[in-house]
Amino acid sequence: MTGMTSSARPLLNRRLAAFGTTIFAEMSALALRTGAINLGQGFPDTDGPEEIREAAVRALREGRGNQYPPGPGVPELRAAITAHQERRYGLSYDPDSEVLVTAGATEAVAAALLALVEPGDEVVALEPYYDSYAACIAMAGGTRVPVTLRPHEGSFRLDLDELRAAVTDRTRLLLVNTPHNPTGTVLTRAELRAIAELAVERDLLVITDEVYEHLVFDAAEHVPLATFPGMRERTVSIGSAGKTFSFTGWKVGWITSTAELVTAVRSAKQFLTYVASGPFQYAIAEALRMPDSYFEEFRADMRAKRELLAGGLEQAGFTVFRPAGTYFITADIRPLDESDGIAFCRSLPERCGVVAIPNAVFYDHRQQGAPFVRFAFCKRTSVLEEAASRLKSLAT
Ligand code: PMP
Ligand code: GLN
Repeated sequence: MTGMTSSARPLLNRRLAAFGTTIFAEMSALALRTGAINLGQGFPDTDGPEEIREAAVRALREGRGNQYPPGPGVPELRAAITAHQERRYGLSYDPDSEVLVTAGATEAVAAALLALVEPGDEVVALEPYYDSYAACIAMAGGTRVPVTLRPHEGSFRLDLDELRAAVTDRTRLLLVNTPHNPTGTVLTRAELRAIAELAVERDLLVITDEVYEHLVFDAAEHVPLATFPGMRERTVSIGSAGKTFSFTGWKVGWITSTAELVTAVRSAKQFLTYVASGPFQYAIAEALRMPDSYFEEFRADMRAKRELLAGGLEQAGFTVFRPAGTYFITADIRPLDESDGIAFCRSLPERCGVVAIPNAVFYDHRQQGAPFVRFAFCKRTSVLEEAASRLKSLAT
């Protein structure tokens, strides 16, 4: 994979050599090749609201955003982001200096890490972690320090003592993700308070990836880390339109933070994409102002889909971790007499025509994640029903 030059030096630099191809691309390619149902990569199989799509068409036709938008994002979107944070969480940000629109949350994560991490700094991240975190920490020259969420009574939990023990004098920042991909864990208010207290006590910066903020179920609630005492001034909060409005291809994300942190992150972002997604920024500005009913219906729809897929997986014999948030279910394959999730996922299309993601790739110590696989349920009901019926063949 890493080609050789005549001097035998690998082409791909040392920082990236370990990462290979993202699992999402690999598994979506496998689904295409085999015609299997793709419950791997997390993208919906239907588009978001028609009026938001029309808003993008209107922006294109009216010539809004067809040329480079302003570096921080178009004013309409920045205003809509701050209004959304204020309305939902009582967090107030200045749309001119405390918001930055990015090419999805992916660029927000990359720019924040590239801007804030010095080579040699330690970055404490929850494991299993979204794959771009590890690669971006490496590109920034930082050292990843994983704190593992462990299965306990039906969900993956954070051990606060382990988190405290992971912080050293070299720790620069905590990288948090709630609702958490891939486990579906939503950190509780008490856990978040403890994280906040630790960050304040040790004077750490915090990056919090909250792209699934609108996807929480039942009694779970999403509480932004920035709302805790002492946190607004040290936290870079990341959001994305992709998940909330089912337009993952538009790549509209954002950060909210202090003017100093936003300026720092923009210093990196300006040399990555500079700007992106012009007309879509206008459409997402409208989307963020949709009435509460949109967000409630979206959540109810996903909750029903969670039940459908969780039931199917249980009937197929998996042990299911019912997620409190996100649109992913992590399942344990050991009841099926399997133990290697990577091999299991590679063989699943042939065995029953379904694609899933092996959680092992999101762990430093792959063995810890070996028996867990992730299924996405952001798909049409008929597709989930068909997938559930195919998976049942594993039980026999
Ligand atoms: N963070 C997490 C936890 C994710 O699951 C994803 C995938 N949507 C991203 C970031 C990237 O989001 P985007 O598509 O907006 O770049
Ligand atoms: N966030 C999506 C997931 O977890 C994938 C996004 C991507 O392919 N980079 O499935």
